[in-house]
Amino acid sequence: MTQDELLAIDRAHAWHPYTSMLDPDPVYAVRAAHGCEIELMDGRILIDGMASWWCAIHGYNHPVLNQAVRDQLERMAHVMFGGLTHEPAIRLVRSLVELTPGSLQHVFLCDSGSVAVEVAIKMALQYWIAAGRPERHRLLTIRSGYHGDTWHAMSVCDPVTGMHHLFKRALPQQLFAPAPSCGFGDPCTDDDIAPFATLIEHHRDELAAVILEPIVQGAGGMRFYSAEYLRRVRELCDQFDVLLIADEIATGFGRTGRLFACEHAGIAPDILTLGKALTGGYLTLAATLASRRVAEGISSGKPGVFMHGPTFMANPLACAVANASIELLLSQDWSATIRRLERGLAAGLAPCRGLPGVAEVRVLGGIGVVELEHPVAMPEIQRRLVEAGVWVRPFGRLVYLMPPYVISDAQLAQLCAAVVAVVDARSGF
Ligand SMILES: *Cc1c(COP(=O)(O)O)cnc(C)c1O
Repeated sequence: MTQDELLAIDRAHAWHPYTSMLDPDPVYAVRAAHGCEIELMDGRILIDGMASWWCAIHGYNHPVLNQAVRDQLERMAHVMFGGLTHEPAIRLVRSLVELTPGSLQHVFLCDSGSVAVEVAIKMALQYWIAAGRPERHRLLTIRSGYHGDTWHAMSVCDPVTGMHHLFKRALPQQLFAPAPSCGFGDPCTDDDIAPFATLIEHHRDELAAVILEPIVQGAGGMRFYSAEYLRRVRELCDQFDVLLIADEIATGFGRTGRLFACEHAGIAPDILTLGKALTGGYLTLAATLASRRVAEGISSGKPGVFMHGPTFMANPLACAVANASIELLLSQDWSATIRRLERGLAAGLAPCRGLPGVAEVRVLGGIGVVELEHPVAMPEIQRRLVEAGVWVRPFGRLVYLMPPYVISDAQLAQLCAAVVAVVDARSGF
């Protein structure tokens, strides 16, 4: 089929993320992707600034990851995980247990980030049911968060960007503290933590867990906050005996400069969710890790089993490529790579500071954010970015970059220069 034929069918029948079916924004057809480059069907080559929504940390079409998928495919693409097990899953749970805090010993493998969050929340609720405290079923979180698009996950997303008003009748009503006011690298004062502290103290008897993204709030606002704030959240959870769920689906596997963002604060959550970069962007897979206390609590109460079991749980192809991706990451000096990205992003995006319409430029690890004063006109800014030879997908007031770790210095400079040029020209649209 020609590109025009494909795009006509796509426009008529394929629902894209957060898109109208009556008036869909234009999409760009991709023929292939290699390393840090996306090749469009019309022959244009774009430098990738998105890592396909934080996932493709090693870039596209990586020979080692391709081989891992091929090798596993020759053995089996899938078998059910009920009553059966296999080496790819066993190797994966072992390395996740080894890489994360020692208290996290039990791994539930599932299909996507949102499901991992549902599983985490279900674990927290089931923990309290098993403990004879079923009234502890609510969640406390911070505004500007994002935890996925399924039902309970959505209930803890930022109420505005998560469109809570739309689903008000059906969504569980959770508790929201303001987003942390203390930035990354700043101390956290009593005033900074006070709203959160008041909420947790006030609602201690109905709270199952606190859920938040550690250090970096991703799709809910691309905000970086103080490690001391996170430490104080951990202390308050301990003080009021509330479980802490850390959602590291976006931050895991090095993106913030530490392997996991909780390490910035030196804390361990009771439940941890991982996804996105887990398979290097190859296949959908996520993991929910639980502490011994949580797993034992669930398993010793009634009904004594954890009530979840997705069809494609621990899919062998996905586990095999996850193992290869983790090995590839750890076999190199990834932390030097992230420091290189941080320097490149900071230098490359600096010219945006002071441009009309730019509110703030911030960089942490492999994440660069240009926050604008007003929301972007999506199709228009998207077209200009593509014309400038880069793949960057802004949302709201945010133009942000989180390129694959394999991006070269020259590509990174080109990526940033394109963003600067488009943001600079933006006064015209
Ligand atoms: C992307 C994301 C999710 C949801 O993951 P999906 O795989 O899209 O379901 C949950 N939490 C965070 C922090 C995320 O960034």
